[in-house]
Amino acid sequence: MPYKWLTRLPTVLYPPTCVLCQAPSSQAIDLCIGCLGDLPRILHPCRQCASPLPAESLELCGACQTNPPAFDATIAPFRYALPINRLLAGLKFQGKLMYARILGDLTAQAVIDSGIELPECVIPVPLHARRLRERGFNQARELARYVARRFELPIVDGIVTRTKDTKPQMELDAKQRFKNMRDAFALNTLDPWQHVAVLDDVMTTGNTVGELARTLKVAGVKTVDVWTVARTHSEVP
Ligand SMILES: [Zn+2]
Ligand SMILES: [Zn+2]
Repeated sequence: MPYKWLTRLPTVLYPPTCVLCQAPSSQAIDLCIGCLGDLPRILHPCRQCASPLPAESLELCGACQTNPPAFDATIAPFRYALPINRLLAGLKFQGKLMYARILGDLTAQAVIDSGIELPECVIPVPLHARRLRERGFNQARELARYVARRFELPIVDGIVTRTKDTKPQMELDAKQRFKNMRDAFALNTLDPWQHVAVLDDVMTTGNTVGELARTLKVAGVKTVDVWTVARTHSEVP
């Protein structure tokens, strides 16, 4: 059967290779077992914001206890550190879309491992139209393709628009970040979603996803979870 040959050809010519060390990979993902084991995982995340906690016995960080964000839970498997930050930068700034599959698969696995209740849909954090034109793609949407596929969930984009062309949160201090994101999103439709997951590439202070969650809850969504590849510490890296 010539067609079978054709479908087999790519794996014969290009066996799975680790994108980090170029070693052959026996995994379904393009990372070898060694590099996979070395990824900077957050071992004891805050249940609500995924900020790293000092001990497993704690559930919530101090910030979530005193000033809880509008979202209910966060899955963020990694610290924003090498090599995850390099892969994220490659996706976002060099358009290496193959990294979206790797990072999306890792995020989906973290969702499974957490045992969290699945939402009804995945909402990629939208980019402002101007930024989308400049970049040509929304990295959150690219990641969402692989995460949503794993759970056979619909990707819902278009129900929220980014109305403010906000500055990158990493360039601002805490006060500016809050102001920067206030009213940054507008809701276009009122679909009857009760439980959604908002997906982004990196979470810095949580102000971006916090504001999006607030907008969704005002519109009647009951539960908003956040799924993101990486979490920075509360300080700017
Ligand atoms: Zn490797
Ligand atoms: Zn927290």
